[in-house]
This record gives sequence, structure tokens and C-alpha cells, in this order.
Amino acid sequence: MTSAFPSKPSLAGLSKAELAEKLIGVGVEPKKAKMRVEQLWRWIYHYGVTDFAAMTNVAKELRATLSEHYTLERPEIVTQQISTDGTRKWLIRLGPGIEAEAVFIPGVGKAGALCVSSQVGCTLNCTFCHTGTQKLVRNLSSAEIVTQVMIARDALGEWPTQERPLNDGDRQLTNIVFMGMGEPLYNLDNVDTAIDVISDGDGISIGRRRITVSTAGVAPRIKELGDRTGAMLAISLHATNDELRNQLVPLNKKYQLEELFAAIRSYPSLNNAKRVTFEYVMLKGVNDSLPEAKALVRLLAGIPAKINLIPFNPWPGTNYECSDWSTIEAFAEVLNRAGYSSPIRTPRGRDILAACGQLRSESVKQRASERLMAATPSAD
Ligand code: SAH
Repeated sequence: MTSAFPSKPSLAGLSKAELAEKLIGVGVEPKKAKMRVEQLWRWIYHYGVTDFAAMTNVAKELRATLSEHYTLERPEIVTQQISTDGTRKWLIRLGPGIEAEAVFIPGVGKAGALCVSSQVGCTLNCTFCHTGTQKLVRNLSSAEIVTQVMIARDALGEWPTQERPLNDGDRQLTNIVFMGMGEPLYNLDNVDTAIDVISDGDGISIGRRRITVSTAGVAPRIKELGDRTGAMLAISLHATNDELRNQLVPLNKKYQLEELFAAIRSYPSLNNAKRVTFEYVMLKGVNDSLPEAKALVRLLAGIPAKINLIPFNPWPGTNYECSDWSTIEAFAEVLNRAGYSSPIRTPRGRDILAACGQLRSESVKQRASERLMAATPSAD
């Protein structure tokens, strides 16, 4: 292990079950662990403290034991970039050579949304997506997902203090979208646990209705996502027929539109207050014709839906181009006339490659032999 990764592990980001385990590990009686977790929880996730000494209602002895074994540090921020439009992007180091990005977008959702990553890299290879050019390195743990939110709250200065309580109405970060790197439904267990932590009312307290999970269409896990998390569903659709979608989103070869739509219709408790978001990236001359807009309307019949039209965000090396503005407006007009809310998403943070589909870190998966080399102490 290099010196950049401290030998004491951090408790920041852990779930209640994981915290209880750690407490028992340092000698807390199993019967008392639950009560102690509740105490720590409020300090870690409501106040966001980074020092055990601040936990004034926790016994001094326990505080000392905890700081002997653990920290409350967040993962290292490699870079923070701020776009001219206020969007912020953090590149976060989770381990040697393992980096993921999180993006805060003001003016989205109730006040502002944090776009979190669920994997480093991705397996899906969508042809228009920059992350798709980076191989999957690994799934993020639930703690690594939660600490993205903690890093954003740190940077925005949004933890309340006892002297300065903060109401929801004062916050800039009110919504979470799982639209960063990776396919959340290929890491559902950890995404589920992370949502439990983020939505907990005694902690970070971002409600499940303000958390959206976006999938490229892993049909067999869609209903399960709803049953387990109660989160809002977003589908990266991008095409209205299998032939084109097979090209743009190769996962479609596995789960064709018919199967995908059956899964979407089974998402629990859909109604006009809880609608599915369909994301549709506007690619010039590829998927942006008026007959396709009409086909989209037919495809969505009977589903409480809204549509986000995303102007394609270019990245180095792509062959796609963004549709002309007039084409996007004409496409939106067809959807609007059919009664769908279909905002055109203003590209945000393009100058810092923070916009949809532009995230990519330099992390590569090491081969087992390389990992072994790195981990083996040299002979001298
Ligand atoms: N794998 C999940 C989560 C990623 S969400 C999913 O596919 O839904 C990222 C969103 O940005 C998806 O809707 C994706 O299709 C879209 N996107 C990817 N590349 C893009 C690009 N270059 N321009 C605009 N949107 C893009």
C-alpha cells in the first residue's frame, strides 16, 4: 500500500450494518451496537463531521478507541473543476489507479442534482458514450457511492451545525441521479445499500423520490430496482426500433425493446406523480427524424412518462454529431403535441467534459499478473 492510502480505514460512507460490525470489532458489546450506531449516524451523516472529537454525546472512551482504529476521511479528491455554468466535477481516487467522477449540476431537480458513478468504467460500450470507451475496472462499493455525496456536501458547505441548522429549502444539493459512470443495475446490491444510506431521514436525508436511477435497459432487474429502492426510474432509450438500438446500445441485442418495455410497465407504483424518464440523445442524421418522434410517442403509449432530449455531447474521437437545434425543436414539438413533457436538456459543464456521456477516467483494469507484481514486495 502506498502512503497516499492511510493505514486507518474510514467509517465515512458505511451502512448501519457495516458500522455495527466495525463497532463490535473494537469491543462494543453486540447488544449495544445498534444504539451506538444511531448515535454515530447522526454525527457522520447529518452533521458530516470529520473528527470523532466533535461527537459530544458519545462516551470519551469510545471516541478515543474509534480514533485509534478509524478515521472519518473522505476519499482523496484528485481534481475539482468548476464550469463557467456552475457545474462542478470531482475526480475521486478510490484506490491506487482506481478513479471515478461525480458531477454537481445546479438548477436541476428541486435545486441541484449530483450525478454519481456506480462503476469505474462500464461494460456496455454504447457507441456514442465516452465512458463506453473505458473498460470496466470494477463496481463501486456502497460506501464509495455514498462518499461521492459527502464530498459534494463538503465542497458546497451544506452540512448543518448545531448553531446553524439547515433546512431542506436552503440546500443546493437536493437530488441524486445515478447517471455517472457505469450501469447501476449491474451493481444493484451496492446501489440499493447506498440509497438506504443517502435517503435515511436521520442522515443525508435525500428522499427516495428525489433519487433517480438510470439504466441502459437491464430488463430483468428493473422491477427489482423499484421493489428494493423505491427510486425513480430513467431509461436511456435513444432509438425506437431494435435495429438501430442494437447499434447504439449493444445491450439491446440481449434485451430487445419488447422485453424492455414489459419490464418498464411492471415498475412499481407508476402514476402521474411518479413517471418514468426516457432519455433520448439527439444524434444528427441517426435518430432525429420526425417519423422517429412519432414512433417514440407510440412506444410510450400508456406509460406515465417524461422525455429528456439530450443534445449529443461530443468527446475526443467520436464520429457522431449533435442534431441541429431546429431539428431538436421540431422533434420536441411532436412529443409536446402528444402531451409529453419533453424538455431539451441544456448541455451543462461541456467545457470541463462533465456533461452526459463525457465522463471517463484514466483507470484501467490491471491484469492479475500486473496486480500481483504491484503487490509483491521487492526482494531488497
Ligand atoms: N448506464 C446507465 C447510466 C449512465 S447515464 C444508463 O445508460 O442509463 C448517462 C446518460 O448519458 C445516459 O442516458 C446516456 O445514454 C447519456 N449519454 C451518454 N453519452 C452521451 C453523450 N455523448 N451525449 C449525451 N448524452 C450521452
